[in-house]
Amino acid sequence: MQFAASLNAVAKSKFQALRGMRDIMSPDAERQRALVDAFAHLAGLSGYGHIMSPIVEDLGVFLRVGESTDVVTKEMYDFEDKDGTRIAMRPELTASVVRAFVQHNPPSLPWKVWYEGPQFRHERPQAGRYRQFSQVGIEVLGSDDPAVDVEVIALGWRFYQALGMNEVTLLLNSLGDDTCRPQYFDALETYFRDRASELSEKSQETLEKNPLRVLDSKRAEDQAIIADAPLMVDFLTDETAEHFAAVRSGLESLGIPYEISPRLVRGLDYYTRTTFEFASTALENAQNAVGGGGRYDGLAESLGGKPTPGIGFALGVDRILLACDAEGVFPAPDLTPDVFVLDVTGTEAATVIADELRMAGISVERAYDGRNMRSQMKVANRVEAPWAVIIGETELAEGNVTLRDMHGDSGQTLVSRDELVATLSTKVAN
Ligand code: AMP
Repeated sequence: MQFAASLNAVAKSKFQALRGMRDIMSPDAERQRALVDAFAHLAGLSGYGHIMSPIVEDLGVFLRVGESTDVVTKEMYDFEDKDGTRIAMRPELTASVVRAFVQHNPPSLPWKVWYEGPQFRHERPQAGRYRQFSQVGIEVLGSDDPAVDVEVIALGWRFYQALGMNEVTLLLNSLGDDTCRPQYFDALETYFRDRASELSEKSQETLEKNPLRVLDSKRAEDQAIIADAPLMVDFLTDETAEHFAAVRSGLESLGIPYEISPRLVRGLDYYTRTTFEFASTALENAQNAVGGGGRYDGLAESLGGKPTPGIGFALGVDRILLACDAEGVFPAPDLTPDVFVLDVTGTEAATVIADELRMAGISVERAYDGRNMRSQMKVANRVEAPWAVIIGETELAEGNVTLRDMHGDSGQTLVSRDELVATLSTKVAN
């Protein structure tokens, strides 16, 4: 059998995680979880419910939303499932969430959800850019009130603040709506076509699919042409301009600073009206986007639902943590246990005492493998627990254990077995 043969061939290989994918280990994993907890807390305060959608979707879900984006056309992990269905590992979560919205048709609007989880993009890996990375995000479907835009952007902003980040810039733009976009598209297309020969080869290709996306080019040879390109803001209808003004005014009333970035188009095709990005000035320019989002008023409809306005954002967890490192904020949680248990009796006393303490909410590490006292103490010192419980034969026979203050100067005392949990509970609480 082919499968068995290939199993044999790899039997002795030493594996590594795939390129662009990482094992995130303790304490970084705890740090990442703490970040997600902080996000969940903020989202909960604003009435967002948690959504956990599948990591793989029908390929069509993503094709429908990004026909002219590299994320969808070039970088997607898509394959044929065993039954022949074309499926894809999600490169982003907005499309999945909107698919879920259309599928479940929630009765009360607006529908507000938050999410977290891994995304997959077959990009060229580099610092801050991975093939599997994590995002936290929110989506709101069913309202186009500018107050929703403001709430969404503010939640992102407050989250960075909650982590202690100070070097974040909010870039803001409006991409117009169905009424004003076609005129802008035409103007942009005419402008780029007239100068097509000066554009990079890549941008010439992009121009064929979506002139708007040429604005997103980071290539040096395109920059001068992009700089003089027509701007969406000059094409906004009165209604869209008013919506945008209300969003700006809302942000101002919250004291949230922003920069208008008239060429901000973002990576996916579905954005309309309010569009924004959060950039960290603490990170290298190339990978300094720590989050972004915007309105996608046509997305529900293009995924087979009723016309429903929507807005959301996704924040890049891995990059946020790099930015936190650069700013020296939001360190990994301290995982030092409260107590280290040492035992020289060879009985089950260490197992029982460790269990009792843990049940009382005290974190405990211990030595294993029947090592001698000296080597157990070495481990205890390395672990740096502030308290050590030493189980000695004579003491145990008399119903006692020794409690040692490993950092302070209170030395060691004999404590009755029966009082150990209570004694340590007060000490640990202090
Ligand atoms: P996007 O869905 O492209 O708007 O991405 C939202 C955020 O996810 C970005 O601002 C980044 O912080 C993060 N992100 C996107 N792609 C990657 C990647 N390949 N590796 C790490 N983070 C990423």
